[in-house]
Amino acid sequence: MSNQLFDINTVYSGHVQDIGWGPEVRNGVDAGTTGQSKRLEAFKLKLEVPEGLEVKVMKRAHVQDFGWLDPVYEDDDICGTVGLGKELQAIQLQLYGKDADQYEIWFQLHVENKGWMNWMSGGELAGTVGLALQAEDIRIMVFKKGVSLKTDGVVGFVEYVTPPAKDPVVDANMAGKYFSWAELACDCIKPEYGFGWCDGYPEQDLKNQNAPYLIDILDRLREYLGAMIIVTSMIRCGDCNDHWGGIQRSYHTTWQAVDIVVPGFSPYEVAAAANELTGCGARYYRASGFTHLEPPGCGVCCQE
Ligand SMILES: [Zn+2]
Ligand SMILES: [Zn+2]
Repeated sequence: MSNQLFDINTVYSGHVQDIGWGPEVRNGVDAGTTGQSKRLEAFKLKLEVPEGLEVKVMKRAHVQDFGWLDPVYEDDDICGTVGLGKELQAIQLQLYGKDADQYEIWFQLHVENKGWMNWMSGGELAGTVGLALQAEDIRIMVFKKGVSLKTDGVVGFVEYVTPPAKDPVVDANMAGKYFSWAELACDCIKPEYGFGWCDGYPEQDLKNQNAPYLIDILDRLREYLGAMIIVTSMIRCGDCNDHWGGIQRSYHTTWQAVDIVVPGFSPYEVAAAANELTGCGARYYRASGFTHLEPPGCGVCCQE
């Protein structure tokens, strides 16, 4: 009795790490290895088709570092790579030709860490993409349509898609990761004062130039201390500076100083931490209970 199971024979061989091309095998026999952790690098596949039938096969390989290669169609075409040490990771096979619609090609890969994955058929993908897992073994058959080799619940193909990098959410209200511009504004626009001498953000050029240095320090200090930081004063317009009795040309008038209170930490502890972390100048006011940060120079010093 002739072989009734297979009208069309698949004849294929695998190219395996350290071994090279293996023997030609047929109709579902393994063409690679299992349990040896050897990567399959390429395979060749041809069909033995009875006289009078026209069925051909398109072959495609997904290879480490290269991705999907161009499809190949000829009996001797190599699907994958040889001599480059790259693992085959996924494949796609599809029948075509005048009589292709009567038949289905079935294929499955044995993959590192996964074992035999499910059988896949015409035009589907088998193996993995994006997981850096090597295929190690391969089986291929062609049947008349109407037979399915799929096992319920077994995955035949997995693709890990790297999520696109999200644009950071730019919130115009936020000066840094933890601090809003409103917290840093001049007392002129704060509800509790509302002096109205400025719009809250005087010296726009100096703000752009100088504020990021302190905002970065505040964000880092916030994470370093793991505690809420209350900004009691950052920018002061000239009038506010006079009102609060600040020294002339105070760093506070040029976006170069910030006064903070950190509940749970003494003014000295806050100053020492900020200076250690960033090298900024840090003055602590024991009597008033706050810490003033400014450009490097003064180190950590006590102001009564
Ligand atoms: Zn003001
Ligand atoms: Zn200050």
